[in-house]
Amino acid sequence: MSEELPIIGKDPLGRIIRDWSVKPWWGIDRKKIEWYPKVNYDKCIGCGVCYITCANRVVFDWDKEKKKPVVARPYNCVVACTTCKMLCPVDALEFPDKEYMEKIIKEHKILVKAKEILKKHDLI
Ligand code: SF4
Ligand code: SF4
Repeated sequence: MSEELPIIGKDPLGRIIRDWSVKPWWGIDRKKIEWYPKVNYDKCIGCGVCYITCANRVVFDWDKEKKKPVVARPYNCVVACTTCKMLCPVDALEFPDKEYMEKIIKEHKILVKAKEILKKHDLI
């Protein structure tokens, strides 16, 4: 599936960078969903855990001069993922709050869509 996505390049760790932003989420244009991390540089200690952990979507680049991560490909971020935030030792990554996602779920009738999929596959 990811093989079909456009390749943007490779990063210094040798990871292939794909453009995940072209892949809709629940039928919604990914670029219309403001879900991605923001680095609080007042807190960030440059440990590199977020940069290294986000290995498939490669959301972060690494600023060699500042020795800090940069959110280079925000729309590559998996909607509702918070892995990097969970692993950050100093809580330096910020995401939209739960209410933001609840609004999207409601507006785009995602619960109805989920039910339809389960029904289609004879799971309910
Ligand atoms: S939330 Fe997940 S996909 Fe998004 S940047 Fe963090 S680890 Fe990567
Ligand atoms: S995990 Fe947190 S402290 Fe470490 S580089 Fe990322 S934002 Fe900075």
